[in-house]
Amino acid sequence: MAAEYGDSMRLRTAITDPDYVPPPPGSDRDALPEHLRALIAPHMRDYVSTACETALALDRASTIHHAAMVTLMQWETRQHATCRITRKQDMAKCQCDCHQTTTTTKEN
Ligand SMILES: [Zn+2]
Ligand SMILES: [Zn+2]
Repeated sequence: MAAEYGDSMRLRTAITDPDYVPPPPGSDRDALPEHLRALIAPHMRDYVSTACETALALDRASTIHHAAMVTLMQWETRQHATCRITRKQDMAKCQCDCHQTTTTTKEN
């Protein structure tokens, strides 16, 4: 059960196993091997997690749909809070502003 399989076996298991559990936030369990990540990097778009993408949509909607504004903003907060921060495939960091701290040293 706890036997170590190769990457391809691990990938197949992830696809077919109904009990598959995604790795915890920040885990590199499902990340591609580092040398492959370097090869695909130019072809990957900047990462904004689906949680933060949804939060940003909720924010935009809240400026238009005033009757639902409070509810939309509550969901926005909740969505930002559930962001996994890193894209598990290549460990890219979510670019959403909600992760920027005041002492940010963002490389541009
Ligand atoms: Zn966010
Ligand atoms: Zn995020």
